[in-house]
Amino acid sequence: MSKFDTEDRPKILAIGAHPDDCDVKAGGCAILWARAGCVVRFVSTTNGDAGHHEQSGEKLAERRKAEAKAAGEVAGIEYQVLDNPDGQLVPGLEQRWELIRLIRSFRPDLILTHRPNDYHPDHRYTSQLVQDCSYLIGVPNICPDSPRLEAAPVMAYFWDEFKKPMPFKTDVAVDIDSVMDTKLRMLDCHASQFYEWLPWIDRHGIQMPDNPGQRLEVLGSFMRQFNRPSEEAREFLKRYYGDAQGVAVVSAECFEACEYGAMLDGAAIRRLFPFLGDV
Ligand SMILES: [Zn+2]
Repeated sequence: MSKFDTEDRPKILAIGAHPDDCDVKAGGCAILWARAGCVVRFVSTTNGDAGHHEQSGEKLAERRKAEAKAAGEVAGIEYQVLDNPDGQLVPGLEQRWELIRLIRSFRPDLILTHRPNDYHPDHRYTSQLVQDCSYLIGVPNICPDSPRLEAAPVMAYFWDEFKKPMPFKTDVAVDIDSVMDTKLRMLDCHASQFYEWLPWIDRHGIQMPDNPGQRLEVLGSFMRQFNRPSEEAREFLKRYYGDAQGVAVVSAECFEACEYGAMLDGAAIRRLFPFLGDV
């Protein structure tokens, strides 16, 4: 049972560049949010039609949209894939207006996205677009066909490993051990990526077996490594969950506050991460 009245349910909007980015960075939290009665939508700003070595175009875009839909169903959330071509996203006016209208119609309490420095231009420009929207979603003369947001949502960035110009700074860390199996089932839906494209392009150094059970196991050990909390995150986990659980957490998802949104202070963390308990 949800602890929220329908009106009070926090609304979470995660905006990634490709139809698997949000899953990787916030899939565990999405499951926890959905179970806590929050409304969650994942958005991919591109259709993913460049993310393969043997497939492309409309057929690949359709496949990736179906994978995203299936992953959303596993988590109990909505998954929206926009039709901008993969690898070609630009932070232009059309793209900005599309996102302003999307954010205004969803009315999120929390927006998550990539940090602005990243190897992939689609990640960078998705971040740029979200930042470009952060002020304009409240300006009535911009996209006057959609009502402006009166209250600014909180904004935060997905965790990443990039060090320049600034390394990631943890502001919230969430223990996702209890839902890691479900997160892996979400990622398992993106077969075109984790079992075909990423092993081929070798960006993550994954050697993937053909057997479905074995490949899920390999994906699991890769993701547990990927989601292993930093020392900084570990301090947050101990504070939120107590020393014993905080020390024992294997997998965590972390977020860094973006100063262009509303403040991510203690009260906001308690409201927006209701599964954290007493923070
Ligand atoms: Zn991506």
